[in-house]
Amino acid sequence: MAAGEAVSGAQLVAEALRAQNIEYMFGIVGIPIIEIAVAAQAVGIKYIGMRNEQAACYAASAIGYLTGRPGVCLVVSGPGFLHALGGMANATVNCWPLIVIGGSSDRNQETMGAFQEFPQVEAGRLYNKLSVRPSSLEVIPAVIEKAVRTSMYGRPGSCYIDIPGDFVNLEVNKSSVKYVECCPPPPTSMAEHSAISKAVSIIAHAKQPLLIIGKGAAYSHAENNIRKLVDLCGLPFLPTPMAKGVVPDNHPNCVAAARSTALQHADVVILLGARLNWILHFGLPPRFRPDVKVIQIDICAEELGNNVRPAAVLLGDINAVTKQLLEEFSKRLLKYPSNSEWWKKLREKIKNNEERSKELALQKSLPMNYYTVFHHIRELIPKDSILVSEGANTMDIGRTMLPNYYPRQRLDAGTFGTMGVGLGFAIAAALVAKDRTPEKRVICIEGDSAFGFSGMEVETICRYNLPIVIIVVNNNGIYTGLNADNWKEMLQYGDPATCVPPVSLLPNSHYEEIMSAFGGKGYFVKTPEELQKALKASVTDKQTPSLINVMIDPQSDRKKQEFPWLTRSNL
Ligand code: ADP
Ligand code: MG
Repeated sequence: MAAGEAVSGAQLVAEALRAQNIEYMFGIVGIPIIEIAVAAQAVGIKYIGMRNEQAACYAASAIGYLTGRPGVCLVVSGPGFLHALGGMANATVNCWPLIVIGGSSDRNQETMGAFQEFPQVEAGRLYNKLSVRPSSLEVIPAVIEKAVRTSMYGRPGSCYIDIPGDFVNLEVNKSSVKYVECCPPPPTSMAEHSAISKAVSIIAHAKQPLLIIGKGAAYSHAENNIRKLVDLCGLPFLPTPMAKGVVPDNHPNCVAAARSTALQHADVVILLGARLNWILHFGLPPRFRPDVKVIQIDICAEELGNNVRPAAVLLGDINAVTKQLLEEFSKRLLKYPSNSEWWKKLREKIKNNEERSKELALQKSLPMNYYTVFHHIRELIPKDSILVSEGANTMDIGRTMLPNYYPRQRLDAGTFGTMGVGLGFAIAAALVAKDRTPEKRVICIEGDSAFGFSGMEVETICRYNLPIVIIVVNNNGIYTGLNADNWKEMLQYGDPATCVPPVSLLPNSHYEEIMSAFGGKGYFVKTPEELQKALKASVTDKQTPSLINVMIDPQSDRKKQEFPWLTRSNL
């Protein structure tokens, strides 16, 4: 090594991430990346050691959604990298920024059957906006800047950086390194003026307008302008699952409780950062009118026109475009009348649906049903709680029963419908809350099956002392389960592998003991009174993580809907 200050590959990676304002790194260390995690801590990046790379990657991706700047997932070669693919795909499908750094086998052992050798850069291409290996130590800062920038600019997504094992401890002279400054947040793009005026004219002529708010709107921090737009124009609005809270759920113009009716009869739909994918039934009949006029607002030009030919397209950043719309509406003094037939119809539907949920919530029978459980949760958790939720019925019914009053405070299985995201998301949300809004609690509401995908992260939660409240809504299975008597009966038929229903899990599992095993508080709950007591204790204790295992009727189901959630594409 020539004279001058030497720097190792591990240090270069850590310093470059720090220079790009990366705050959090999640991962599991091993050969060859231990030094990278240690170097990251040394430069002030928070390193969270997780128990499975999938959960680590989900946690890192939630950081991107919550803060607008990507979190990092650090994984070992081969299997470690492969376990993280789920997180990369989930982030890219959700349009969230993420950086994954994977160690890989030494360059001079390539094709020789090296330890955990795998074509990681190639494999990463399908799941990432960018999948690269720096060609030398000197370009590491430039490659990391490019990855961070690519993850955030345009439509956000995941980026993968491959670090060969021999790079980690190799050293170069600092003077030969290509250092790059921190990349600024994405530049703001705005829609063409003519498109804005066309869109406003279409909205002005609408008889049954509907504003659909998607998680792109939440991501772009457009809450203040969207709130103004709703108030100024008097439009009914419907949030998609993770856009709940961009405008508070208790706003009088929220028509979430009349979702099917609103979608089915709207003649003009204004799409603010939501794709016309399965979540919105592709924008097609029978869930939408065949002649519905769609005004599509998105940052991604390729998204415009997917499944439905829009009547107007506004390409740009949601927050900026909403501001443009606001200006045009104010100029034209347009307001949708609150005494219209459309509003009457929506309000009636909302009333009926709310009454039906209330009826179910107040049922006294035991074991409890979903609605009763959510009713008590809603009553007893703080209004500003950050809600994480996954599971089938647990997530779907929870979405309708638990209101959100603030933006970016609901995280769930998302566009990819991923089970196993819950604990990783909760850990990310708790870290961000601790640093930015320490008064806010994270409540993680899991189905028993969903909890199983990443249950061991309870140890991570206890290790970092994150006061998350986990509620496992336990129906002994996936969708439905068996009670203890039926389970026993089932076993008489022979080998459980051939006679136990594939949806069943062990009845009455004591998931709360996983929490007490690591020093948190566990509660096993069967009645509304026990549930109330456990909730009060968990919410009051702001220091200790807790898990409330709530036994419900294994056959409990959601109330009948006009349409099931999934629309088959051949309809
Ligand atoms: P949801 O699941 O809520 O329906 P989607 O994930 O389908 O939402 O859609 C989010 C959309 O938001 C994506 O098409 C994405 O390109 C877009 N988007 C993300 N960030 C922005 C932004 N800053 N401005 C405009 N659109 C954005
Ligand atoms: Mg279940």
